[in-house]
Amino acid sequence: MRQQIVVANWKMHKTIKEALPFVAELKERSGKSSVKIFIAAPFTFISPLVEEAGSDADIFIGAQNMHDALEGPFTGEISAAMLKEVGASFVLLGHSERRIFFGEKDDFISRKVKRAIELGLTPILCVGETEEEYLDNKTEEVLSHQLTAALNDCSANQFDKIVIAYEPVWAIGTGKSASAAQAQRSHHFCRKVLAALFGTAAADTTPLLYGGSVKVENASLLLSQSDIDGLLVGGASLDIHSFIGIINSF
Ligand code: PEP
Repeated sequence: MRQQIVVANWKMHKTIKEALPFVAELKERSGKSSVKIFIAAPFTFISPLVEEAGSDADIFIGAQNMHDALEGPFTGEISAAMLKEVGASFVLLGHSERRIFFGEKDDFISRKVKRAIELGLTPILCVGETEEEYLDNKTEEVLSHQLTAALNDCSANQFDKIVIAYEPVWAIGTGKSASAAQAQRSHHFCRKVLAALFGTAAADTTPLLYGGSVKVENASLLLSQSDIDGLLVGGASLDIHSFIGIINSF
């Protein structure tokens, strides 16, 4: 049985004042299902949200990015140790907005994955093809390349601690989700790539999340697919009612 996970990616939205009652409301429904709730928050929210979540065993607060270096002259960056110190338990890595707007390359993402694990943060590695690649039938090529480049020098022990999110870039923030069948096909393919890298048993226990215009209306159908273990939600995670509706779809 793979862990079910729902991630809220708030990107550069909200204030701490808005975020605190959101987490308080999530606590109200704690223990009602086996899905774990991950909040990928702006850096400055992490400490107050960790405090608000308290000892709730279903809610995890994390970050949307980090640098791979332990420390150094990287103005404006944040390290895994800094995130860990304020109570973050996970970090999104390789999100397409980081790849596209900030030029992040596979080798940088690969180093971040290993650093996150070393410092005790769960990396959620995001992969996915652009619209152009999708239309060129290059989805599998891109997924294979991104997964292999980010993970090929991970040990089996390191891989054990990783969560993967398949996020077609053309579906992010566009309102145009992949269909359940399309998402399942890509997830199944990702699992095959992971099996080739780390063995079937390891690939079969790795949570694979789908992200890209998830909303209450399509969450259940996506989750009914055999290789989709959870959801990564951007826009629809900003409103507590729509996010709880998605959580209730598990
Ligand atoms: C995301 O930011 O990873 C995402 C999936 O966004 P949205 O749900 O808004 O498409």
